[in-house]
Amino acid sequence: MKKPASICDLHIHSVHSDGKLTPAEIVARCVERGLCALSITDHDTVKGQMEAIEAGGANFIEVLSGIEFSAREGEMEVHILGYLFDPLDPGIESNLQWLRSMRRQRVEEILAKLKALGVDVSYSEIPGREKSDSIGRPHVARALMEMGIVASFQEAFNRFIGYGRKAYVPNMVLPMDRIVKLIVDAGGVAVWAHPGQNIRRTGLLEKLISHGIEGVEVWHPNHDGALEEEILETARQRGLVPTGGSDFHFAESMKVDIGGKGSPCDTVDRLKELSSNRTLS
Ligand code: AMP
Ligand code: FE
Ligand code: FE
Ligand code: ZN
Repeated sequence: MKKPASICDLHIHSVHSDGKLTPAEIVARCVERGLCALSITDHDTVKGQMEAIEAGGANFIEVLSGIEFSAREGEMEVHILGYLFDPLDPGIESNLQWLRSMRRQRVEEILAKLKALGVDVSYSEIPGREKSDSIGRPHVARALMEMGIVASFQEAFNRFIGYGRKAYVPNMVLPMDRIVKLIVDAGGVAVWAHPGQNIRRTGLLEKLISHGIEGVEVWHPNHDGALEEEILETARQRGLVPTGGSDFHFAESMKVDIGGKGSPCDTVDRLKELSSNRTLS
């Protein structure tokens, strides 16, 4: 007997960005784990959305459209999730095309830096590059692991490609207000992804709210229980929808499996209410 559906996983990456599973495989795993809903939130691409929505329909599980954008505030990376937007929206797509072409150039720059450090990885050796529409550092980490240069995914970031390391290259990003507007104009809801300790940073939450953010990710593998409580309380005070998910990419890289973190099923209703109000207005 399947357990009663109690949570949804609203943060999952597929093979179309830096994950290893196809949207259909992700949907199957969510069904297996008894989740009530899911969203595939690939970085800078909506390529997997239709496949996920169709697989969800065939398997009687609700699928919300999703995406994850990166932004920057000073030195800090800020990620913004979008839900329930129209995945065919031309405004979103034209911005994503630019971001993805910048991502390809950036990976070439990372490889050049690695080469200067004596680590020779060519673009054609990067696993998953052909399937991915949106290449990133996890692909480089996979290459380094498979070539035996590092023993773990984490070691690749700690030694080479993490922030401030010798082969680090920042990603090109859009301004935060523009990202939120793109999501909202396409009928969606924008959510601050995995804020971590930055939830306490004076001014940042206010700034994001002024841009039109309507939710904040509470349940995430990088947050411990105390931090989740704190973010949940902030969400209550500010009238933001609390969301959550596993941020699953692939088993070797992640702390939790799909459904290992998630939010209550009524999160979906709250997000839908916000999105439908917008469509009507
Ligand atoms: P990118 O968008 O190409 O910069 O890659 C960002 C992804 O890399 C994130 O979604 C995480 O999955 C992963 N990542 C970033 N920083 C780290 C880190 N320090 N350790 C492990 N994974 C990381
Ligand atoms: Fe990622
Ligand atoms: Fe993220
Ligand atoms: Zn993510």
